[in-house]
Amino acid sequence: MIQLGCIADDLTGATDLASLLVRAGWRVVQVRGIPESSEFLSDYDAVVIALKSRSIPATDAVQQSLAALKFLQSLSAKQFYFKYCSTFDSTPEGNIGPVAQALSKHLASEKVLFCPAFPENGRTVYSGHLFVHNTPLHESGMEKHPLNPMTDSNLMRVLSSQTVLSVGLVPWQCIQAGTQAIQESINSQSHCFLIADALNADDLSTLAQATSTHQLSTGGSAFAGAIAQQSPSMFRQIAQHSTSSSWHIQQPAAVLVGSCSRQTFRQVEAFKPFADCWRMPLLEDAQLSRSISHIEQHVAASFLNFLQQRADSGSLRPMLIYSAQTPDDVITLQTLLGNQAAGELVERILAGIAHMLKDAGQRLFIVAGGETSGAITHALNVPHLEIGPEIAAGVPWTRSITTSPDNPAIYLALKSGNFGQDNFFSHAIDLLTSKTTS
Ligand code: ADP
Repeated sequence: MIQLGCIADDLTGATDLASLLVRAGWRVVQVRGIPESSEFLSDYDAVVIALKSRSIPATDAVQQSLAALKFLQSLSAKQFYFKYCSTFDSTPEGNIGPVAQALSKHLASEKVLFCPAFPENGRTVYSGHLFVHNTPLHESGMEKHPLNPMTDSNLMRVLSSQTVLSVGLVPWQCIQAGTQAIQESINSQSHCFLIADALNADDLSTLAQATSTHQLSTGGSAFAGAIAQQSPSMFRQIAQHSTSSSWHIQQPAAVLVGSCSRQTFRQVEAFKPFADCWRMPLLEDAQLSRSISHIEQHVAASFLNFLQQRADSGSLRPMLIYSAQTPDDVITLQTLLGNQAAGELVERILAGIAHMLKDAGQRLFIVAGGETSGAITHALNVPHLEIGPEIAAGVPWTRSITTSPDNPAIYLALKSGNFGQDNFFSHAIDLLTSKTTS
């Protein structure tokens, strides 16, 4: 039996969620997609199923999420959690509303809370409005998101447009009044779906206490963390072991960068002095009007040359592999190749490099970018991930679960673009390779 069965709508969101459950002292495993069997999934407080359902058609997202729920029910999960982004990434059609509606119907849940707040990362909800570092969501930059532009910070309105169920609010004043007031508010409203205000960690904790009997909850990673804090791990000794010195590996890391976010550019610049750096010669090739397949061949040859030079020099420094020097390079490449083709090309190149490095014995990978992380974990073929020490809020070390000595564990840090401090890459490496790992 597991305490919490979790369904996350993307991969880095799943690791974010898993890391906050681990922070609460729980033992957690993450799986990519719906597993074929429950092998490797016993002895955990929580199982997190990472889907890629945030931006797909709503009917597909519902179908995948229901399949994930049924799998988690087969593991006898006591409660269930549907995790989405703390910026409520969705479109007028979904997928948060349709998925939550289908899950609540399947579980016959009468009341479902929606709590995206992640105060530690500046995401708060007040009067049903979502703020990012005190700026309303629709002015936070999220209004320009390429896939899920968020142009309304009123979550009751956003959610209402995605579901036939009525949407209410558990207001902050009620949360301040304590668990009983919250329960009375929830029960006195006829609404099935309720947006929950939350401004700080105490609010999340009070909400978690008040809804401890709810079979289904939904929200960001922080509310799930608050739920986990309500009950101790069933595997306390193993859970403690998982964040201790067993997370140690002595190997130069491969840092693979697909994110083009401002924060990732800063992290790349900060890391360059400590690494052997290779930038894909994409722009030069595209400016010569080379075809995509020609570009791929040339980039592969350039990478092999980089590896050879590195081997010849006997370097033991980490590798830093990235696609662009500046945000302008990204725009130029997109203009030359088209946005989608440019993005897919970089993902394919990075996935190919990861695969090649794994075959050559590489075990320590750091990946920047949500979509990029999906492509690389697929290429590395790591379906089950154990969650380890936290590198930054919402980004843990993970490790593939394997029982075969011929197939040693792969250590992976998967970071979505805007997460992590400027020295994220060095800090991540220090956590695993320094002798004082704790
Ligand atoms: P983030 O978490 O920052 O959103 P993602 O990996 O989800 O990062 O998305 C970044 C996208 O940008 C990926 O599809 C990646 O392949 C693409 N990309 C990376 N480098 C470039 C580039 N130089 N030009 C165009 N697209 C790029």
